[in-house]
This record gives sequence, C-alpha cells and structure tokens, in this order.
Amino acid sequence: MPSKTPDVEPQSPCPCGSQKSLAHCCLPYIQGNSWPETAEQLMRSRYTAHLLLAIDYLWDTWSPEQRLRSSKSDIRHWAESCDWLGLQILSTRKGLVNDQEGLVEFIALYRHKGQFQQHHELSLFRRNLGKWLYIDHQG
Ligand SMILES: [Zn+2]
Repeated sequence: MPSKTPDVEPQSPCPCGSQKSLAHCCLPYIQGNSWPETAEQLMRSRYTAHLLLAIDYLWDTWSPEQRLRSSKSDIRHWAESCDWLGLQILSTRKGLVNDQEGLVEFIALYRHKGQFQQHHELSLFRRNLGKWLYIDHQG
C-alpha cells in the first residue's frame, strides 16, 4: 500500500501546470481512457503520474529496454520519496500527431530528503504501435 495518499481532486488544477483541470488534462491518460497524442502530453502525464503514484502507468509508458533495468517497486519508491512541486516545459521538438519521435526539454521541481531539487532533462519519446513511449533522456 502507498505510504501517502495522493490528494489531488479531479477538478483541481492539473499538477503538470497546464492550467486545465486534472480531469481534463492528464487523468484520462493515466486512467487509460485515452492515449496521449503528443510526446508533450505523455511527458506531462508521466510527471502527474509520479504525484498520483500511478506506477502502472509509468511502467506501461516506459520503453521495454528501461523496464529491464528497473522495477515497479523502484519506481514507486522513487515517486514516494519526493514531494513533486512543479513542472516546466522548456521546449519541444517534433512529437506531434504525425511524428514517430519527439524530444521534450523540461524542468521538474521536487523536494527529496528535505532538499529542493531541480531535474533538467531532454527526453526522447518514440511511438510504438501508435502509442508514445518514454525512451530515455539525452545526454
Ligand atoms: Zn496535466
């Protein structure tokens, strides 16, 4: 069982910072009711999934190669150990409806073991059987 309960209501602002409600932003993806059409949508919903401790979603949207090097319990441990404070999308390249690959550069703010942290990443996303997956970070 999770050690903390996600406390974001569906009508609350989406944690990804989109200015939409959670129910009209990342939640339908995380609940499996629809699939992100763009790499940025997947990026945002994966960030939100860390807050909601939606471990299965994080797992299912990760590349098979990454899954070999990790486990759901590793992901859960990481997600639970952080207070997720905000997401800022800096830039995107491709990753749109008709693309097969895309890059998203972002900063995620979080607190870990009492320390404020800033994770800056350029993420590669690729379509697999029509669905966007998070492949890896670049450099
Ligand atoms: Zn969102």
